[in-house]
Amino acid sequence: MDKTLDKKLDNAIWVAHSLFQRGKASGSVANLSFVHEDKMYITASGTCFGTLKADEFAVMDMDGNPYNEKKPSKEWPLHLSVFQAKPSTGAVLHVHSTYSVLWSCLPDLNESDCIPDHTPYLKMKLGTVGLIPYEKPGSQELFNEFEKRVKENDGWLLSHHGPVVPGNDIMEAFFALEELEESAHIAWELQKIT
Ligand SMILES: [Zn+2]
Repeated sequence: MDKTLDKKLDNAIWVAHSLFQRGKASGSVANLSFVHEDKMYITASGTCFGTLKADEFAVMDMDGNPYNEKKPSKEWPLHLSVFQAKPSTGAVLHVHSTYSVLWSCLPDLNESDCIPDHTPYLKMKLGTVGLIPYEKPGSQELFNEFEKRVKENDGWLLSHHGPVVPGNDIMEAFFALEELEESAHIAWELQKIT
């Protein structure tokens, strides 16, 4: 029994359940990944964060070749490009959380730092968030746009789609994603009254 892998799976499942229970990852559109022994473990296609289990992960090598029989989330190339561009990354989270998506639909956002820092916590927990122009989810065009910015920023917001957040491990990615969503919520509320 690999205790390190078990711990990573336990944490990933806790994060998925927590995000689902609090309405930050609805339906089956969210996905997450982590690295273990030079392999990427990513939630399988069609899985739901609310019911995620340890046997619902596809395993791939760092060139994107399948390592088990599970079909990965169709957004797996986004995850792989983060791990390839930033080798110290241990996990990546992607959701369609409401306030980040609302903010991503506004015109004239700063592409190199798209979430205003009304509080210091997003910069402390994550850093700058780059805006990725809209392309169809799962398309090669989206992956190409993402790759252009992946080295430039610490996290990313896919326009009209949702955030992609890395961390040294899944808990760090979770804390950063929570801060991104809170910052987008605060910015959204403030822009209604200013
Ligand atoms: Zn998505």
